[in-house]
Amino acid sequence: MKHLSDILTHLGENREQYFQAVSPPVIQSSNFVFPDLKAFRECFSDELENHVYSRGNNPTVAILREKLAALEGTEDALVFSSGAAAIAAAVIGNVATGDHIVCQQAPYSWTNNLLRKLLTRFGVEYTFVDGTNVENIRAAIRPNTKVLYLESPNTLTFDLQDLEACAALAREHGIVSMIDNSYCSPLFQNPAAWGIDIVLHSGTKYLNGHSDVVVGVLCASKAMVRKIFESELMTIGAILSPHDAMLVIRGLRTLPLRLERSDKSAWDLVHRFEKHPKVEKVLHPFHESFPQRELAHKQMRGCGGLFSVQFKTDSMEKMEAFVHRVQRFLMAVSWGGHESLMMPTIGFYNIPGRSNPPLPYTFCRFYIGLEEPDWLWEDLEQAMEVL
Ligand SMILES: *Cc1c(COP(=O)(O)O)cnc(C)c1O
Repeated sequence: MKHLSDILTHLGENREQYFQAVSPPVIQSSNFVFPDLKAFRECFSDELENHVYSRGNNPTVAILREKLAALEGTEDALVFSSGAAAIAAAVIGNVATGDHIVCQQAPYSWTNNLLRKLLTRFGVEYTFVDGTNVENIRAAIRPNTKVLYLESPNTLTFDLQDLEACAALAREHGIVSMIDNSYCSPLFQNPAAWGIDIVLHSGTKYLNGHSDVVVGVLCASKAMVRKIFESELMTIGAILSPHDAMLVIRGLRTLPLRLERSDKSAWDLVHRFEKHPKVEKVLHPFHESFPQRELAHKQMRGCGGLFSVQFKTDSMEKMEAFVHRVQRFLMAVSWGGHESLMMPTIGFYNIPGRSNPPLPYTFCRFYIGLEEPDWLWEDLEQAMEVL
């Protein structure tokens, strides 16, 4: 296995091919020339391996793919124009009409939509289960189950699934297992090492890390990557541009530094919140009070910048006042960038389907970016006075 530093600094970067430039060029070209008929025929026979057209294989994008596969410890990887596109390609690529999907109960909202709305139009069935107990997953498996979809931890309540047990269960039943690994990033959890078949990321979050690119990642075996490349990726065409690929490569250079910083700062703030009188509870997978803490420590090496807080307050007005007093956190969806964010459930808690199971209005998810924790806490403390 390659060293992390080697992957982030060198892997895939054949500098002799581009004037010994330290940074790889953005090969901003839609198509590639065949110098003769022999090359034409060869390239055409395999668009995954050769340069024909940038919907298939683009050299700048290929550098990113190689690094991502190495980070997850899989044979190959594909990148997409969004995490949602990667997720859709992975799921659609492994089901047909009449098939059934088992999914942990609280996936990312557009994954939920994919299963509940889009795929049901094509006769694909689904069951959502509380995946914190693998026996619930076992009980939901039917003869026509083809996909086990995990998201561990999810990004609101951080429910975990036991990856080793789930991979074994899927294999026993001939089911393709897949996981949205965005929460951990490849630095803190490698599901393929536990036997999960497909590892997905919203690279929009930690991998790019600067809140300026939307990107999706799919890591799997060569055979699975080829299958999805030749069907879903080439047909639907939700590809990443070479320029965006370059930005993600640049983001990856600092991934360990950013993640370590967010992880440490979040842990620091979690411990300040837990002692505060206006806090009912904090949710963080490594926290002493977290019900699945042991499993979290078994399969994760860190947590990153996300945690949630349930505040002690008796009215929606006070919760709204708190949200409006916070200045140094931006109120926004997403996470994983340089900037600290908050996502209070009071903003969406009465919109059907947005949180499953429903969360109280006193609940707020925080993402800690790269700012000084003391500076962030000062802001939170003054805001909590109105609760
Ligand atoms: C953001 C997110 C997605 C969707 O990714 P996009 O890049 O926004 O399409 C999927 N899963 C999780 C856990 C996310 O946080």
